[in-house]
Amino acid sequence: MAQDSRFADDLPFKSRIFDHWKDRLPALGILIDWGEPSCWACRFHYGTKYDVKRAGVGWEQILRGWDRIPLQRCHIVPRCLGGANDPTNLFLMCRECHDLAPNTSIPDIFFEWARAQSSEARELSKIRAALSAFGIDDAEAMELEAVLFSKEFEICKSGKLGLHRPQSNYASISYRLTPATLVGLVVYYRRTTAGRDHFTHRRGNSPACPWSRSRPSAGRRRRPSASHR
Ligand SMILES: [Zn+2]
Repeated sequence: MAQDSRFADDLPFKSRIFDHWKDRLPALGILIDWGEPSCWACRFHYGTKYDVKRAGVGWEQILRGWDRIPLQRCHIVPRCLGGANDPTNLFLMCRECHDLAPNTSIPDIFFEWARAQSSEARELSKIRAALSAFGIDDAEAMELEAVLFSKEFEICKSGKLGLHRPQSNYASISYRLTPATLVGLVVYYRRTTAGRDHFTHRRGNSPACPWSRSRPSAGRRRRPSASHR
């Protein structure tokens, strides 16, 4: 089973951490799906690659899924405050939550923070920040959202976007497109396109929030953890 960090070689396997916490998380107000590993704080889901694909699989296969998922083993009480490298003091979270989590000697503070995280809300705040950086207000954001799903924008953005390779372990979101990438490109498209009504609108049902459908699969609803054992 692969360990995911050269700085954490003495940490227990993620499957051991999962096994310790799987029945304890609900009491903390945190529900996870055993067969669809996701961040225990923000519920960021890495796609179906790590999911258990079939019903009725063995327990070993579920544990293997948890060992493969690129979640990080995060100390609830940090090492510098005496926290142990033990499943009881480790929590499986995405890289971004690991960077943002509180580092105190009080586990309740950690769990309260974890309960309040949402990858969807976090992504929206990044989108809003990116819109603000380009001086786009709410009304303009709604207009620009229509551009996102136009054929013309699809063609325009081709070859103009990509992932940013991290230069350090602190590049927390480099494995997916940053919201500023898409916002920047759609602003560029609007600025370089004369008129605004000639593109082909392909809007579907009205979204709960502007831009929400443009993101890669990020964040899943918590589902009860029953039925996998
Ligand atoms: Zn997270």
